Amino acid sequence: MRMVMLGAPGSGKGTQARLISTKYGAVHLSMGSILRKEVAEQSEIGRAIGGTLNKGDMVEDGIVNMIIENQLQRYESVILDGYPRNLLQAQHLDGYLQEHPPVLDVVFLLEIPLESVIHRLSGRRVCDRCNKTYHIDFYRLETCPCGGHLVQRDDDNPETIRHRMEVYQAEIQPLRRFYEERKQLYPIDADQGMEGTFADISQVLDKIILPQIKRPRIIGRLRDAVGELGNKLDK
Ligand SMILES: [Zn+2]
Repeated sequence: MRMVMLGAPGSGKGTQARLISTKYGAVHLSMGSILRKEVAEQSEIGRAIGGTLNKGDMVEDGIVNMIIENQLQRYESVILDGYPRNLLQAQHLDGYLQEHPPVLDVVFLLEIPLESVIHRLSGRRVCDRCNKTYHIDFYRLETCPCGGHLVQRDDDNPETIRHRMEVYQAEIQPLRRFYEERKQLYPIDADQGMEGTFADISQVLDKIILPQIKRPRIIGRLRDAVGELGNKLDK
């Protein structure tokens, strides 16, 4: 399956994408993680985008388009998280997939009220060693069981959150219409906790999307295995 996960920062996109990846065997491609890794490694791309990421602004379309194309050449079954971010990126992805099928099977839009987003994000802490995330409502210690320290990500402070939400609101409307017109969009209520949200997503995949897919699975599996191997050889 080729899937896209849309939603505001803090809507739980990453968590839901990981759950889908585990249950349905798709490769989780998180643009945020890929970009943060580039910054941490001080790669050429990382140095170019470091300041942009920290201000909560969006990275240039050309860079993220290129990163995604590289990944799509490696993997057939994917869930995209954090891409596309705007209409231009969605159009670019659409054109690319028309030439390099399979095209998208489904686009999920996680919907959540603004107040919930602000509450979720400003209380989020990340382990500086293993990257696991916690929320101060549920976890009150300052260290992770792995021994790492819990810190607030640079872009999770209230001022940056507000800016990220403004950017998101402006970008999501045209994106939503784009996928609605293609009958690929499935809005999901994401303000009901992790399990409830994932149950709704699974329902759509099991009852609607999977029965429609009839392409030979074995070829996709083989391509993904070759992609994994390529990634290992790169390291
Ligand atoms: Zn940890």
